[in-house]
Amino acid sequence: LLHFARGGLMGFVRRLRARKGPGAVRPPAAPLAAVEPLPHRALPARGTPILSVQGAVKRFGGLVAVNDVSFDVAAGEIVGLIGPNGAGKSTMFNLLTCTLPMSSGSVRFLGQDIAGMPQREVARLGLARTFQHVKLRPQMSLLDNVALGAHSRTRSGVLRAGLRLDRAEERQILQEAQRQLERIGLGDRAHELAGSLPLGTQRILEIARALAADPVLLVLDEPAAGLRRKEKMALGELLRKLRDEGVTILIVEHDMDFVMKLVDRLVVMNFGAKLVEGAPAAVRADERVQAAYLGSVA
Ligand code: ADP
Ligand code: MG
Repeated sequence: LLHFARGGLMGFVRRLRARKGPGAVRPPAAPLAAVEPLPHRALPARGTPILSVQGAVKRFGGLVAVNDVSFDVAAGEIVGLIGPNGAGKSTMFNLLTCTLPMSSGSVRFLGQDIAGMPQREVARLGLARTFQHVKLRPQMSLLDNVALGAHSRTRSGVLRAGLRLDRAEERQILQEAQRQLERIGLGDRAHELAGSLPLGTQRILEIARALAADPVLLVLDEPAAGLRRKEKMALGELLRKLRDEGVTILIVEHDMDFVMKLVDRLVVMNFGAKLVEGAPAAVRADERVQAAYLGSVA
């Protein structure tokens, strides 16, 4: 059902019909009557520790991709995870979001040990992520893409939602998706197809989908990669706005200028291990960091 009827059964029928007529355009969705908003979780007070990674290790056969890495994240800060290509940043993100099982170590999120938890459960606790490569559904509208992110917040299972058995809940989800689109500045483009957006806008759309899960912590893997200067500036502005609203952000980023201006704190990885941790200016001045980056260029 999820595969063939992503827009619900009616969406499936509509698509079949649209396929017949070459000039057929997707009918604009009828305006929905306002429904009760989905409940929001209270965000922890600024400065409260929310994530603690202790002694994280990941082995791929003989390769140690993450080697005994520990760091903490407090509510309301933007923390950057940087390091040369292959340093283990994406793997570290996969461990702390439970996308990959750890070889050893622990991850505590909001006081709970989440290592080994199904990713769905982790998302439900308030940890939302994006991936290094865009994972949107190009043939679905912006609104439907963002709505996918909100499903974890409702009681209905995916099957029920797919069958659209719970219309009221479906409307709550769509209303929430619209609200998130407005939050990121794409409110007036809700019914365009995600695949038609330029890369920079797709990245921002992915963030909206993550926000629809009502996260405490947003984990972003290279959101600025491949973006043009203007797109990067828009992204930076959005992330700062989200932080001001109380969202905590952990970000892997390659563009040093971008990340230095954005974050409160940096964790630097090299060859799988943590090299340095500190404020952007101190990290930039650190000889070990400079050597690591020079080494990766040579
Ligand atoms: P970064 O994101 O910092 O560029 P990665 O975490 O992607 O680095 O990769 C760290 C190391 O782990 C690299 O040497 C990479 O080749 C290796 N690696 C990553 N994922 C896998 C995997 N699924 N299987 C085997 N090796 C992997
Ligand atoms: Mg990576």
